Amino acid sequence: MENRVAIITGSGRGIGKAIAMKLAQENMNIVICDVDETAIAETVKEIEGTGVQAIGIKVDVTNSADVARLFDETIKKFERVDVLVNNAGITRDNLLIRMQESDWDAVIAVNLKGTFNCLKAAAKIMMKQRSGKIVNISSVVGVMGNIGQANYSASKGAVISLTKSAAKELAPRNITVNAIAPGYIETEMTKNLPDNVKEMFLNLVPLKRPGSPEDVANVVSFLVSHQADYITGQVIHVDGGMVM
Ligand code: NAD
Repeated sequence: MENRVAIITGSGRGIGKAIAMKLAQENMNIVICDVDETAIAETVKEIEGTGVQAIGIKVDVTNSADVARLFDETIKKFERVDVLVNNAGITRDNLLIRMQESDWDAVIAVNLKGTFNCLKAAAKIMMKQRSGKIVNISSVVGVMGNIGQANYSASKGAVISLTKSAAKELAPRNITVNAIAPGYIETEMTKNLPDNVKEMFLNLVPLKRPGSPEDVANVVSFLVSHQADYITGQVIHVDGGMVM
């Protein structure tokens, strides 16, 4: 893993930050990108504490000009991009009949268009390098659907089909593209869910506990390693058995 360069979107906190820490512990140089400047600064400091190089860039993944700047600055600093993890994501939950058009648009923009923007920018660089590993963070609800999450589940389902199309297109250049479908993971995103919803999720988990951000980071670490060189276009569930 040494001297490889990884960009992780939405890595100021939560699952993205855990992924950044895990890849840093494996001696990769890290690019932290997020919309939250304070979180970026704190995370970069923590990553530098592990002894690798890190840069932080404020980026809104929905904005293609921001994404172009993210990749330009990464190349300027590190001269290559070996790993992209499309992790930035939001929820705007509501029942279908109450869902505002703006809630639909916002979720599709970050979760789906943001993934497309970064995937496209990374592919251009990785195709020239003739190597690269891309991991898209989807969700179990992208597979099974969920009440109150029509926008979110549609975006995450689309991330899975985007992953498969990209995997087929990029395979000839030795680039793998896989997705992870986390289940119920304890982060800021799920902290404020009503207790009855948390209980409902836990009742669906055979392993009877919520996942941690590190549970997801461990699988990213495997998928971007050379041990996973022959795996592409797959969706790996990290959900305690919720969907099988
Ligand atoms: P989180 O809300 O704790 O962190 C998301 C991060 O993304 C934040 O730092 C936020 O500032 C950043 N972000 C939001 N919009 C952005 C944008 N436009 N551009 C750049 N950065 C942006 O969430 P999390 O729980 O760590 O989730 C991370 C990913 O995992 C998301 O894609 C989420 O959908 C997915 N996921 C989470 C769970 C869960 O249970 N927590 C389950 C399945 C999937």
